[in-house]
Amino acid sequence: MTKARTVDVVIVGASLSAAAVAKRLVDAGYETIALERFCLPRTKPCSGIISPRGHRFLIENFGPLPKEVLHEPTSCKGVTFYFPGGVELPMEFDHGSTPHLNRTYSDHWTIQRSGAEIHDNMRFLSASDQGTHVDIVAGNGQEEKLYRARYLIGADGPNSKVVRTLYPEYREAITWFTVKQHLHEIVDCPLDPAYFHYWFHPELGYYTWSHQRNGRQIVGVGHEANDDFSLRHAKALHYLEDRHKVKLGPCVTRETSVNNFGLSLINRYVFGRGNIIVTGQAAGFLNMIAEGMSAALHSGAIAGEAAVDAFRLNRPIQEIYRTMIQSEVRRCSDQWNIMKILFGRPHEADFMGTLAKRSKREKLIVLKDVAKFLAPWGKYNWGRQMLWQAITRQVTGGYNPRRWR
Ligand SMILES: Cc1cc2nc3c(=O)[nH]c(=O)nc-3n(C[C@H](O)[C@H](O)[C@H](O)COP(=O)(O)OP(=O)(O)OC[C@H]3O[C@@H](n4cnc5c(N)ncnc54)[C@H](O)[C@@H]3O)c2cc1C
Repeated sequence: MTKARTVDVVIVGASLSAAAVAKRLVDAGYETIALERFCLPRTKPCSGIISPRGHRFLIENFGPLPKEVLHEPTSCKGVTFYFPGGVELPMEFDHGSTPHLNRTYSDHWTIQRSGAEIHDNMRFLSASDQGTHVDIVAGNGQEEKLYRARYLIGADGPNSKVVRTLYPEYREAITWFTVKQHLHEIVDCPLDPAYFHYWFHPELGYYTWSHQRNGRQIVGVGHEANDDFSLRHAKALHYLEDRHKVKLGPCVTRETSVNNFGLSLINRYVFGRGNIIVTGQAAGFLNMIAEGMSAALHSGAIAGEAAVDAFRLNRPIQEIYRTMIQSEVRRCSDQWNIMKILFGRPHEADFMGTLAKRSKREKLIVLKDVAKFLAPWGKYNWGRQMLWQAITRQVTGGYNPRRWR
């Protein structure tokens, strides 16, 4: 093994949260390396519909988006919710359309523009916090490399190795979900290609969506990690044909991802220990209808700023990060908070405003269908925790940091 490479910060991952971390550090003059397990540009299963807030972040921090980082159609107007009782609610995003990102190229573009030194095909393997610095081992199957950094930042996504290194019990402690999207040839598809389509249907799965990409139709299904996906996918295809007259040909591409869904609903974020902090979806950030890119970017920027402040003030990074990250926790968990949904405006498409314009009968159908959709979630015991977090938020103005790892 070679001598350790010493730098200010090592980031694990080279995706959107990592790019935001790196941007803050490099701009402040700190030597930063991003380790990525795959060769870049790599593929990343994602619908690629970024929220308006995430879009603004990209432009403000990395500049105007080049065409190569977009799929066709290049933008998305909004989202349509479908309820089994027959109600359809199309909602435009606030402030107009948002880009349809091709994650293979958008992620590579952002990490390059961050100015960090990128070590791709280099998987993070282990870390040991020595108090004054962190020793890190990474490898690619042929060779192992050593790094030494003042801080290590885990931006390595839902199944984070950094989190599992810090908390070996984590794998068993949470419920894992699988999200799969199949791209199909289109025979006939009446669903509006300018919208992202989402079904609140308890029999289809906890997360069922469809939209157009590069002349193909995505049909995606999310379910518990040990469920039978083929059955759920077949059910979704059948439902789309039966209910919406969507006729699709064979599947041409399949994408799968394991997900730590649920942490932002019940305020169980994971922010690390000592000189190691965690951000992005690795920390549990995931907005409503699995929009994770804007939270990844914003939490990543906060992690980067926390590291800059820890350097400048010579104070513990955990203390700084856990204080600063509260704003993003509020932003993300508010999206799942029933009080905020009913009496605030936490989303970037106006669900309550759109529903308010519908007849009394349609409102009742939606209410009943949402209740039916939520029933299967009872087994996770999240409802009571969500309610308690919502009350805490009303009373204290924030979410309880003692629930964080
Ligand atoms: C099917 C699907 C559809 C989605 N659709 C949307 C959508 O339309 N809009 C939206 O906003 N969000 C969507 N999301 C969620 C979104 O993709 C994530 O929330 C977001 O990418 C999280 O960003 P991140 O930077 O935190 O992590 P990731 O994007 O997961 O990046 C983590 C990076 O770390 C690397 N890595 C992992 N382990 C290691 C290791 N040991 N060593 C080195 N590198 C490592 C990975 O290869 C990856 O490049 C979707 C997710 C899925 C699965």
